[in-house]
Amino acid sequence: MSVALLLPPATYSNVGLDVEPLTSGPRFVRTRGMSRWHRPRSGRRYPDDRLVYDAWCGYSIGGGRKRAFLGAEEPPAGEPTCGTCEGRAAGAGQADSPTGRLLIFSPRDITPPKNCPASRSSVLFEELPGGRVGRCLACGDMQPLRAMGGPYNPRYAIVQHPTGQALIEPCPFHRWRHLVARDGRAVCECGRETAS
Ligand SMILES: [Zn+2]
Ligand SMILES: [Zn+2]
Ligand SMILES: [Zn+2]
Repeated sequence: MSVALLLPPATYSNVGLDVEPLTSGPRFVRTRGMSRWHRPRSGRRYPDDRLVYDAWCGYSIGGGRKRAFLGAEEPPAGEPTCGTCEGRAAGAGQADSPTGRLLIFSPRDITPPKNCPASRSSVLFEELPGGRVGRCLACGDMQPLRAMGGPYNPRYAIVQHPTGQALIEPCPFHRWRHLVARDGRAVCECGRETAS
């Protein structure tokens, strides 16, 4: 039995192209040394088949040796579960509320940013003929370009702007944080395609 992992395995670290984000996992996980069960919100698979789950509370569980963690549909009677995981999973809609109350948890870094991630970039736009206007490679909106750099190094940057409707899909690991321009498209610096 498995549960849908609601969140992408977002990280600030480098992630090899052969690491895959997981879309489902055990309802509860813990390492052998942990005193309580945690709920995974995201996970990844490494090329050697190691699995790592990220718990709602922030723990990363797994990795190391194969099967370095235990998974369960329901923790054995009497074994405690992590309150932070339970509350956040319920608040984010992954699990029923353990208290019967309406819980809310809105993780950061998951929803599109208010300001477009291409704001003030000197590469994430396609300049349109005449008029110093560019089409944003991240969100598709037309925005003014502003001159930057000195007289010997003139360049243009797209102005800071609210995220447009046509924002590209985020990298599962780095979201919209490390966009670069390649062949006239915005892609994640790690090399993953971000289909628009
Ligand atoms: Zn936890
Ligand atoms: Zn934009
Ligand atoms: Zn990436």
